[in-house]
Amino acid sequence: MKYLLVLIVIAIAIGVWRSQRRDEKGQRQQAAPRRGPAVAAPQDMVECAHCGLHLPRSEAIEAGGRSYCSAEHRALAQRR
Ligand SMILES: [Zn+2]
Repeated sequence: MKYLLVLIVIAIAIGVWRSQRRDEKGQRQQAAPRRGPAVAAPQDMVECAHCGLHLPRSEAIEAGGRSYCSAEHRALAQRR
């Protein structure tokens, strides 16, 4: 009989936990509707001509048709 009571308590706890999770999920979806990109749109990746690091084109420094990860690497590459 004791075990039955424990089982019932566990079942109720799981039920409460699951319903709370469902509520959180619903609230999150309401707060952030699925319209519009949830993640940033994919960007072109470019390779630093000096060290080979891949980075988004928006963060790269373009010089002479080549891309660099930083102004320092642009300067180093141009010095050669
Ligand atoms: Zn670099």
